Amino acid sequence: MKRILITGAAGFLGSHLCDKYISEGYDVIGMDNLITGSLDNIAHLMPLEHFTFYHHDVTKFVHVPGKLDYILHFASPASPIDYLKMPIQTLKVGSLGTHNLLGLAKMKKARFMIASTSEVYGDPLVHPQTEDYWGNVNPIGPRGVYDEAKRFQEAMTMAYHTYHGLEIRIVRIFNTYGPRMRVNDGRALPAFFSQALRGEDITVFGDGSQTRSFCYVADLVDGINKLLLSDYNLPVNIGNPTEITINQAAEEVLHLVGSNSKIIHMALPKDDPKVRKPDITKAKELLNWKPVVGREEGFKITFDYFKTKVK
Ligand code: UDP
Repeated sequence: MKRILITGAAGFLGSHLCDKYISEGYDVIGMDNLITGSLDNIAHLMPLEHFTFYHHDVTKFVHVPGKLDYILHFASPASPIDYLKMPIQTLKVGSLGTHNLLGLAKMKKARFMIASTSEVYGDPLVHPQTEDYWGNVNPIGPRGVYDEAKRFQEAMTMAYHTYHGLEIRIVRIFNTYGPRMRVNDGRALPAFFSQALRGEDITVFGDGSQTRSFCYVADLVDGINKLLLSDYNLPVNIGNPTEITINQAAEEVLHLVGSNSKIIHMALPKDDPKVRKPDITKAKELLNWKPVVGREEGFKITFDYFKTKVK
């Protein structure tokens, strides 16, 4: 039986990954310090014989008894408002946390995957973003704590590969959505769904012409799994290349919810990327992966989830 450690297990992506590997028949160890994650996301896994939860902060020494085949480091605040509130934790989990887990992976001879991000490209000057683009990041801006932690995480992980021969996987994750996103996460889609459901104004930042490309979580998990099982040690973009403006996202949510909320415009946060769209040629060619869930279907499932959460 394969044994996998998933950090950030109580978070949005981490909990879906726990589900995935439980369903694949793995022994799953979930780890989370619960600063942004929620036990609600993994409550259904807790009684299972092959799921174990460790309430632990990975920036402290990480001890896991027994063998490990895979380590997936998905712990991190991931929403711009979270890393503004927790800049030091964000830097520490990407740097110290990654170092601790790399040490563990080396000792256990486990394959090590990191959740990198489209944020390594910053406010990109190349569009769509290919993996060989080095990015346009402001290291001391408000998003720098996340972007630079993730860039350091990639560098450190690559060093363990080149110096120690560790098997590594670097997934660069683009905007992803679906059930288990936090209602008050602050990101665009949870904000728009919860505002529309409550009949509050929809807060579009800036003029709303900035673009994002939203991937449904099941597609992302499928891509991550294919990358994990591949033999490729360099970064791979996983995301949905269908690009829309934030105005369009807001209008689609309003239409789906059937809400009378009106769209209001607020100040654009500093260093907010103007465009973002993954080039997924590598994922297609190497992994035979592409997203299959369209926004209509994905938004509907997400709406059904937020209906149960928004009071
Ligand atoms: N955004 C918005 N209203 C909100 C939250 C976010 O207009 O209530 C915008 C944000 O400025 C950005 C885009 O939506 O341009 C996506 O933001 P999000 O926080 O979801 O993630 P990002 O892609 O910026 O990391």
